[in-house]
Amino acid sequence: MLDLIIRNGTIVDGTGMPGFTGDIGIKDGKIALTGSILETAAEEIDASGKIVSPGFIDPHTHFDAQLLWDGRAKPAIEHGITTIVPGNCSLSLAPLKAEHRMKLVGMFNQIEEMPIKAFEEGVEWDWETFDEFLTRIKKDLTINVAPLVGHSVLRLWVMGDASMHRTADEEELSQMQDLLRECLRNGAIGLSTSFIDMDETLQPVPSRYADQKELGALCEVLSEFNRMLQIVHEFYDADVTVARIDQLAEISLKYKITTTFSPLFVNSTDNDAVSKVMARVDEQFERGARVWPQVQTRPIDISFSFEVPSLLFIRLPSWYQIMRFGTHDETVAAFKDEDKRKQLVAEAQSMGPLWDKLVLRQVASDANQQYVGKTLAEIAASRNTGTIDTMIDLSLEEDLQAHFLASNMGHNDNDVVGSLLANPRVHLGASDGGAHILSFATYGDTGYLFSQFVRNCKSLSLEQAVKKITLDTANIWGMEGRGVLQKGYMADITIFDAEKIARGDEYYTQDVPGDGYRYVRDGIGIDAVIIGGEVAYQNGEYTDSTNGAIIPGA
Ligand SMILES: [Zn+2]
Repeated sequence: MLDLIIRNGTIVDGTGMPGFTGDIGIKDGKIALTGSILETAAEEIDASGKIVSPGFIDPHTHFDAQLLWDGRAKPAIEHGITTIVPGNCSLSLAPLKAEHRMKLVGMFNQIEEMPIKAFEEGVEWDWETFDEFLTRIKKDLTINVAPLVGHSVLRLWVMGDASMHRTADEEELSQMQDLLRECLRNGAIGLSTSFIDMDETLQPVPSRYADQKELGALCEVLSEFNRMLQIVHEFYDADVTVARIDQLAEISLKYKITTTFSPLFVNSTDNDAVSKVMARVDEQFERGARVWPQVQTRPIDISFSFEVPSLLFIRLPSWYQIMRFGTHDETVAAFKDEDKRKQLVAEAQSMGPLWDKLVLRQVASDANQQYVGKTLAEIAASRNTGTIDTMIDLSLEEDLQAHFLASNMGHNDNDVVGSLLANPRVHLGASDGGAHILSFATYGDTGYLFSQFVRNCKSLSLEQAVKKITLDTANIWGMEGRGVLQKGYMADITIFDAEKIARGDEYYTQDVPGDGYRYVRDGIGIDAVIIGGEVAYQNGEYTDSTNGAIIPGA
């Protein structure tokens, strides 16, 4: 007898072929039958009028820490996602010696904007090796996890403090190779490295002290296992990006591995940049290299208050210095100091009219509620002062609890983004799920793909969009036996309404350990999500299924 049957849905099977009406039968976590099923099952779902597709795969996330207190990686599953890839951008939580824990927390705080308090209150540190970490998260895992190993943590483990100062010697290289080999043997899907990130002291992260020889030595090990290299590159500079693509192409050809770089953004002030990058991607694919650019669906929106550092200010040194290193009282004092304030205003003016369009999102006091939802330009006009001064004044009046939103900061040209998403040489991803939790909601990119680029802009057909985030992703990453609804494949399945699927509005919620807040979005139009053959989410409710797998696993 079958365990589960999904009846009468429109099956969009992940291959890009036109959807068709049929049933799907599941047994022991796998798809046992498709077509017309006469037998019955313990559990049945009527999917009439709905799309039945493979579960969506999110290839660029930082859910590493969240998985320790939330094996569902909420709200990923509510958006139809059945598999996530954590450990991107040179940072993973294992392998990690006890003495380096706080160093890593500092880096996660600086780079991924994860609150330190969440680690203090939500994480019980009871692992060191990669295997121990996987055992730990597997205890209560609903979503599938395909974990990358971070290059910076490999360096920390082998070289200690020296990892933050210099290249590795021969002995250290071979130790790093052995360590990576062990992680891959225990189930890691690949290696991640970063060429741009800064640690909590604003010094380069360990991976940036590696030379070509070191990266080559590690890719040699990836090659033994046929696994992925992910990098975060100098995404704001097209020429440097082109050079990184060349470097990745040489690695891909020499070691016969897949590489991916993320993110590739569309900058509305420089459309040539994307054409230049994609021209080089095309050239390298034609040589037989695999250099996948990752492109996200959503435009860049950034929320901030002056209580925590925000990446919006990263190119404004006076502001960033205060946000990063100042205490609450020091920030308030700086805003109150006349000379300091003049300097801050002058520096912010260098970013042009950006500030006028910022929207006041949220305040604590009653007095300022009247301004919520208005732009800084509007508020400044009614208060007879400048926009940057208004931002500072409101922050002081609210004891730094004024929240602002900078929307459409880039990646918002639907024509260019749509044609990139439809390009067969573009990998759809880069959500950053689980990171930057006080800057924006990294959830809902899959819903947005369908609402904006399938329904509104018609950049892709429904079948193409499904293929992009299922089979294509599974193929790029070598996730065998996933991403298609055919007999013998794993039963990771999303059932959704093609007319309704979308992302909900962004909102602020308190569900992070240590009484922390984050921005999230609800999923819209997702009826059910099945992971490893079990219903994990249905009609807005989670089940108690914990059938998540480690991919590829040991
Ligand atoms: Zn990242």
